[in-house]
Amino acid sequence: MEVAAKALDIQTRLKQAAERSGRSSEDIQIVAVTKYVSNERAKEAVEAGFTHLGENRLEGLMEKQEYLQNKASWHFIGSLQSRKVKDVINKIDYLHSLDRLSLAKEIQKRSDGTVNCFIQVNVSGEGQKHGIAPEKVMEFIEQLSKYDKIRVAGLMTMAPHTKDEELLRNCFKQLANIQKEIHTCGMPHAPCTELSMGMSNDYEIAIEEGATFIRIGTALVGE
Ligand SMILES: *Cc1c(COP(=O)(O)O)cnc(C)c1O
Repeated sequence: MEVAAKALDIQTRLKQAAERSGRSSEDIQIVAVTKYVSNERAKEAVEAGFTHLGENRLEGLMEKQEYLQNKASWHFIGSLQSRKVKDVINKIDYLHSLDRLSLAKEIQKRSDGTVNCFIQVNVSGEGQKHGIAPEKVMEFIEQLSKYDKIRVAGLMTMAPHTKDEELLRNCFKQLANIQKEIHTCGMPHAPCTELSMGMSNDYEIAIEEGATFIRIGTALVGE
Protein backbone atom coordinates (compact mmCIF):
# COMPACT_ATOMS: atom_id res chain seq x y z
CA MET A 1 0.00 0.00 0.00
CA GLU A 2 1.15 3.54 -0.64
CA VAL A 3 2.28 5.67 2.26
CA ALA A 4 -0.51 8.17 1.61
CA ALA A 5 -3.18 5.46 2.00
CA LYS A 6 -1.60 4.09 5.17
CA ALA A 7 -1.29 7.62 6.50
CA LEU A 8 -4.99 8.21 6.01
CA ASP A 9 -5.81 5.11 8.04
CA ILE A 10 -3.45 6.11 10.85
CA GLN A 11 -4.76 9.66 10.92
CA THR A 12 -8.34 8.37 11.18
CA ARG A 13 -7.45 6.07 14.06
CA LEU A 14 -5.45 8.82 15.73
CA LYS A 15 -8.44 11.14 15.58
CA GLN A 16 -10.79 8.51 16.95
CA ALA A 17 -8.45 7.68 19.81
CA ALA A 18 -8.08 11.39 20.59
CA GLU A 19 -11.86 11.83 20.60
CA ARG A 20 -12.37 8.83 22.89
CA SER A 21 -10.11 10.48 25.43
CA GLY A 22 -11.35 14.05 25.01
CA ARG A 23 -8.18 15.30 23.38
CA SER A 24 -7.50 17.35 20.27
CA SER A 25 -5.77 15.44 17.51
CA GLU A 26 -3.67 18.53 16.90
CA ASP A 27 -1.82 17.83 20.12
CA ILE A 28 -0.46 14.57 18.75
CA GLN A 29 2.49 14.47 16.33
CA ILE A 30 3.36 11.46 14.25
CA VAL A 31 7.06 10.68 13.97
CA ALA A 32 7.40 8.68 10.76
CA VAL A 33 10.07 6.10 11.56
CA THR A 34 11.97 5.45 8.36
CA LYS A 35 14.74 3.23 9.73
CA TYR A 36 13.59 0.13 7.83
CA VAL A 37 12.95 1.68 4.47
CA SER A 38 14.57 3.14 1.38
CA ASN A 39 15.21 6.81 0.68
CA GLU A 40 12.42 6.76 -1.89
CA ARG A 41 9.94 5.42 0.64
CA ALA A 42 10.99 8.07 3.16
CA LYS A 43 10.43 10.69 0.49
CA GLU A 44 6.91 9.38 0.00
CA ALA A 45 6.28 10.02 3.67
CA VAL A 46 7.48 13.61 3.33
CA GLU A 47 5.31 14.07 0.25
CA ALA A 48 2.35 12.68 2.19
CA GLY A 49 2.84 15.56 4.59
CA PHE A 50 4.93 14.13 7.40
CA THR A 51 7.34 16.66 8.86
CA HIS A 52 8.78 14.61 11.73
CA LEU A 53 11.05 11.73 10.71
CA GLY A 54 12.73 9.22 13.01
CA GLU A 55 15.95 7.25 12.57
CA ASN A 56 17.87 5.10 15.02
CA ARG A 57 21.34 4.97 13.46
CA LEU A 58 23.84 7.61 12.40
CA GLU A 59 24.28 6.07 8.95
CA GLY A 60 20.55 5.99 8.23
CA LEU A 61 20.12 9.52 9.50
CA MET A 62 22.85 10.93 7.28
CA GLU A 63 21.67 9.08 4.22
CA LYS A 64 18.05 10.19 4.59
CA GLN A 65 19.00 13.76 5.40
CA GLU A 66 21.14 14.04 2.33
CA TYR A 67 18.50 12.50 0.09
CA LEU A 68 15.66 14.59 1.47
CA GLN A 69 17.76 17.74 1.74
CA ASN A 70 16.66 18.22 5.30
CA LYS A 71 13.02 18.94 4.63
CA ALA A 72 11.92 17.62 8.01
CA SER A 73 12.48 17.67 11.75
CA TRP A 74 14.71 14.80 12.75
CA HIS A 75 14.19 12.55 15.73
CA PHE A 76 16.91 10.20 16.92
CA ILE A 77 15.01 7.32 18.50
CA GLY A 78 17.63 4.66 19.11
CA SER A 79 20.10 4.21 21.90
CA LEU A 80 23.03 6.54 21.29
CA GLN A 81 26.59 5.49 22.02
CA SER A 82 28.63 8.27 23.62
CA ARG A 83 31.31 8.06 20.95
CA LYS A 84 28.72 8.82 18.25
CA VAL A 85 27.32 11.91 19.96
CA LYS A 86 29.66 14.27 18.12
CA ASP A 87 28.41 13.01 14.75
CA VAL A 88 24.73 12.91 15.60
CA ILE A 89 23.89 15.68 18.02
CA ASN A 90 24.06 18.70 15.72
CA LYS A 91 22.05 16.97 13.01
CA ILE A 92 18.89 16.34 15.00
CA ASP A 93 15.98 18.24 16.49
CA TYR A 94 14.99 15.71 19.17
CA LEU A 95 16.77 12.93 21.00
CA HIS A 96 14.37 10.30 22.36
CA SER A 97 16.88 8.20 24.26
CA LEU A 98 18.67 10.17 26.97
CA ASP A 99 19.22 7.57 29.69
CA ARG A 100 22.50 8.24 31.47
CA LEU A 101 24.63 11.07 32.82
CA SER A 102 27.67 10.10 30.75
CA LEU A 103 25.57 10.71 27.64
CA ALA A 104 24.38 14.08 28.98
CA LYS A 105 27.96 15.08 29.65
CA GLU A 106 29.01 14.22 26.12
CA ILE A 107 26.05 16.13 24.66
CA GLN A 108 27.03 19.16 26.75
CA LYS A 109 30.53 18.95 25.32
CA ARG A 110 29.62 18.37 21.68
CA SER A 111 26.41 20.23 20.98
CA ASP A 112 26.37 23.68 19.38
CA GLY A 113 23.06 24.58 21.00
CA THR A 114 20.21 23.41 23.15
CA VAL A 115 18.98 19.89 22.42
CA ASN A 116 15.40 18.84 23.00
CA CYS A 117 15.68 15.55 24.85
CA PHE A 118 13.28 12.89 25.96
CA ILE A 119 14.32 10.86 28.96
CA GLN A 120 13.92 7.18 28.12
CA VAL A 121 12.18 5.36 30.94
CA ASN A 122 12.13 1.58 31.32
CA VAL A 123 8.61 1.42 32.71
CA SER A 124 8.11 -2.28 32.17
CA GLY A 125 11.36 -3.13 33.97
CA GLU A 126 12.45 -5.62 31.31
CA GLY A 127 16.16 -6.19 31.82
CA GLN A 128 17.23 -6.00 28.19
CA LYS A 129 15.65 -2.59 27.66
CA HIS A 130 17.44 0.74 27.81
CA GLY A 131 16.08 3.44 30.04
CA ILE A 132 15.98 4.75 33.56
CA ALA A 133 13.96 3.01 36.24
CA PRO A 134 10.77 4.95 37.03
CA GLU A 135 11.78 5.67 40.63
CA LYS A 136 15.08 7.20 39.49
CA VAL A 137 13.74 9.57 36.83
CA MET A 138 13.24 12.57 39.12
CA GLU A 139 16.73 12.41 40.56
CA PHE A 140 18.21 11.97 37.08
CA ILE A 141 16.40 15.03 35.75
CA GLU A 142 17.48 17.11 38.73
CA GLN A 143 21.08 16.19 37.96
CA LEU A 144 20.65 17.37 34.37
CA SER A 145 20.17 20.99 35.50
CA LYS A 146 23.90 21.57 35.36
CA TYR A 147 24.04 20.79 31.63
CA ASP A 148 22.65 23.90 29.99
CA LYS A 149 22.58 22.37 26.50
CA ILE A 150 19.96 19.86 27.61
CA ARG A 151 16.29 20.71 27.66
CA VAL A 152 14.05 17.97 28.97
CA ALA A 153 11.14 18.17 26.55
CA GLY A 154 9.46 15.06 27.90
CA LEU A 155 9.62 11.35 28.62
CA MET A 156 9.80 8.39 26.26
CA THR A 157 9.15 4.70 26.69
CA MET A 158 8.96 1.53 24.68
CA ALA A 159 6.13 -0.69 25.84
CA PRO A 160 6.61 -4.45 26.09
CA HIS A 161 5.97 -6.59 23.02
CA THR A 162 2.54 -7.86 23.92
CA LYS A 163 -1.07 -7.81 22.83
CA ASP A 164 -2.18 -7.49 26.45
CA GLU A 165 -4.02 -4.16 26.38
CA GLU A 166 -4.14 -3.78 30.12
CA LEU A 167 -0.41 -4.20 30.41
CA LEU A 168 0.22 -1.67 27.66
CA ARG A 169 -2.23 0.82 29.10
CA ASN A 170 -0.70 0.46 32.52
CA CYS A 171 2.76 1.12 31.11
CA PHE A 172 1.62 4.30 29.34
CA LYS A 173 -0.32 5.48 32.38
CA GLN A 174 2.75 5.16 34.56
CA LEU A 175 4.86 7.19 32.15
CA ALA A 176 2.16 9.88 32.00
CA ASN A 177 2.06 10.05 35.81
CA ILE A 178 5.81 10.57 36.06
CA GLN A 179 5.67 13.19 33.30
CA LYS A 180 2.99 15.15 35.16
CA GLU A 181 4.95 14.97 38.38
CA ILE A 182 8.06 16.37 36.73
CA HIS A 183 6.19 19.01 34.77
CA THR A 184 4.58 20.19 38.01
CA CYS A 185 8.00 20.77 39.60
CA GLY A 186 8.54 23.66 37.18
CA MET A 187 12.27 23.13 36.77
CA PRO A 188 13.48 25.65 34.16
CA HIS A 189 15.53 23.07 32.25
CA ALA A 190 12.74 20.50 32.32
CA PRO A 191 9.36 21.74 31.07
CA CYS A 192 8.60 18.07 30.42
CA THR A 193 5.37 18.67 28.56
CA GLU A 194 5.71 15.84 26.03
CA LEU A 195 5.13 12.10 26.04
CA SER A 196 6.82 10.02 23.33
CA MET A 197 5.01 6.71 23.45
CA GLY A 198 3.12 4.40 21.11
CA MET A 199 4.35 2.47 18.07
CA SER A 200 2.59 0.67 15.21
CA ASN A 201 0.97 -1.91 17.48
CA ASP A 202 -0.07 0.21 20.41
CA TYR A 203 -0.37 3.85 19.39
CA GLU A 204 -4.12 4.08 19.89
CA ILE A 205 -3.79 3.09 23.54
CA ALA A 206 -0.84 5.45 23.93
CA ILE A 207 -2.93 8.32 22.57
CA GLU A 208 -5.76 7.51 24.97
CA GLU A 209 -3.20 7.75 27.77
CA GLY A 210 -1.76 11.09 26.68
CA ALA A 211 0.95 10.54 24.04
CA THR A 212 2.00 13.74 22.24
CA PHE A 213 4.51 12.05 19.91
CA ILE A 214 3.78 8.60 18.50
CA ARG A 215 6.58 6.83 16.64
CA ILE A 216 5.23 4.85 13.70
CA GLY A 217 7.35 2.72 11.41
CA THR A 218 5.82 -0.52 10.13
CA ALA A 219 2.21 0.67 9.93
CA LEU A 220 3.14 3.77 7.96
CA VAL A 221 6.00 3.05 5.62
CA GLY A 222 6.13 -0.74 5.79
CA GLU A 223 8.99 -2.90 6.98
C1 LIG B 1 11.65 1.03 15.31
C2 LIG B 1 11.15 1.91 16.39
C3 LIG B 1 9.84 2.42 16.35
C4 LIG B 1 8.83 2.08 15.26
O1 LIG B 1 8.38 0.78 15.42
P1 LIG B 1 7.14 0.19 14.60
O2 LIG B 1 6.65 -0.91 15.46
O3 LIG B 1 7.68 -0.28 13.30
O4 LIG B 1 6.13 1.25 14.45
C5 LIG B 1 9.47 3.28 17.37
N1 LIG B 1 10.30 3.60 18.37
C6 LIG B 1 11.54 3.12 18.45
C7 LIG B 1 12.40 3.51 19.60
C8 LIG B 1 12.00 2.24 17.47
O5 LIG B 1 13.25 1.76 17.57
